[in-house]
Amino acid sequence: MTNRTFKTGESREQASLLPARIEDYVGPDNPVRAIESFVCALDLAKLGFRHAKRVVGAGQPPYDPADLLKLYLYGYINQVRSSRRLEREACRNLELIWLLKDLKPGYRTIANFRKENWKALKAVNRSFVLLARELGLVGGSLVAIDGALFHGDASKASIFTRRRLAEQIATLDREIEAYGKSLEDNDATEAEPRPDGHGDAGYGDDLGARVKELMAKRSRAQADLEGLDTGEKRQLSLTDPDARLLSKGDQTIAGYNVQSVVDDKHKLIVASQVINSSDAGHLHAMAKAAKEVLEAKSLQVLADAGYYNSADLKACEDDGIEAYVPPSEGNGVLDKQGRFSLRDFSYDAAADAYRCSAGELLRPTKGRFTNTSGRVEIRYLSRKAVCAACPLRPRCLAPKAAQRSIGRWEHEDVIERHRARMQSADADDLMRRRSAIVEHPFGTIKCRAGYRHFLVRGFNKVRGEWSLMALCYNFTRVLNILGFERFIAAVARAVTSRPYALADALACLLLAPETFWTRFAQQIAAPRRQPVLLG
Ligand code: SF4
Repeated sequence: MTNRTFKTGESREQASLLPARIEDYVGPDNPVRAIESFVCALDLAKLGFRHAKRVVGAGQPPYDPADLLKLYLYGYINQVRSSRRLEREACRNLELIWLLKDLKPGYRTIANFRKENWKALKAVNRSFVLLARELGLVGGSLVAIDGALFHGDASKASIFTRRRLAEQIATLDREIEAYGKSLEDNDATEAEPRPDGHGDAGYGDDLGARVKELMAKRSRAQADLEGLDTGEKRQLSLTDPDARLLSKGDQTIAGYNVQSVVDDKHKLIVASQVINSSDAGHLHAMAKAAKEVLEAKSLQVLADAGYYNSADLKACEDDGIEAYVPPSEGNGVLDKQGRFSLRDFSYDAAADAYRCSAGELLRPTKGRFTNTSGRVEIRYLSRKAVCAACPLRPRCLAPKAAQRSIGRWEHEDVIERHRARMQSADADDLMRRRSAIVEHPFGTIKCRAGYRHFLVRGFNKVRGEWSLMALCYNFTRVLNILGFERFIAAVARAVTSRPYALADALACLLLAPETFWTRFAQQIAAPRRQPVLLG
């Protein structure tokens, strides 16, 4: 029983609600202290942050890049990422007031930091992966690769393909023609006196200006079309020069394709890249990046059919990477025509010949041929006389062909080994695990954090912003896996070789509970493996 109708807040007239010390604004195990300790442990000059090496000089000093990095880490972890919102939060959010020691950078300073330090942000992201590896949080033997589309800071209407430009030119032509006809009609009208007896009846000036405007627009569209025809670009983006119209399933966006490699053990992103094309052709580059950061001798890589590419499979094999990618179905032209495809011919390695459904051998011809996709192939041909009498001829040969020809890639043995791998008992299980491994981070970043689009434009800045998203995903995940105390101890252990960084990292922990110090002592005493480079 209570004598209050509702819960009531404090009186606004009360003298002070806040503790006198900024240190008391946040609790001893507040996650914001983990951000502080991590950033303090980084060698920002080595990572390439602007102003990190600055010495005292004339004029107003800049903000310490460490403070702005802390602001961004806090913001991206807490779904605050626009520079104006970060500016506001720095003034009213007690955790940020603690983190920045009551500094209040303006939104331009905040925005410029993200734009200018894109390379350094990528380096911080990599440093965190190295830390996770040092802590044993990545397995380093099985990873999955996938791409996800993120909207750019551009609309679909601002991106032109050849087809769209041709359609625009055709529409402009029709409008110009219609206005031209109106001008002719107007000339005829102008010849007659106006009903009120003042001047001519026409309105030619307005029409003439409109036609000029349309002609100028048409010239621009024509120049853009010629630029696309002669250059390497297949799309022209007016707002963000690097954003592209990208499609996946029934979704089409104006933006970027984020490639991510995720480790199986704790679903941490170990390598990533932002591109503006499809997944095809990026299997090897992404797998190699992951293998390097994991320092793995061998690596199993899982990817979906969009990554199937024979050259990539060969490059992976050469680099000790075992790829599991469902074979592409191809365009199925032969299947649609009801004709035998390559699947219906078996290769006899001993005889170096293909055997067709009629049991006849197709023998190799001399020389090598480069096909339309640039692959060097050996051509295998059947005998004309045998095919002429073959009852399977309608299902095998094109109507005017006299014999069957098959192109075998010079490294076809790589494809055969991959095919055998995909038919092994493990493959089904691994492919089922693929989506569970790699789609987890994208789901978290897009659905939990709500990051489906980039706020900046151009590859460099977008890659910097993606690094922040990936870093915050990994950071939150590692903090959740280890817990606050073990996380702080791990960061401290990683920088024990740099006493000044250790002192900074621990300065924020004076209020840490006693259990933390006990565990920290155990962590420090534990035998170290490889030294981790936080910078
Ligand atoms: S047409 Fe020639 S290649 Fe085709 S199945 Fe008959 S014999 Fe073999």
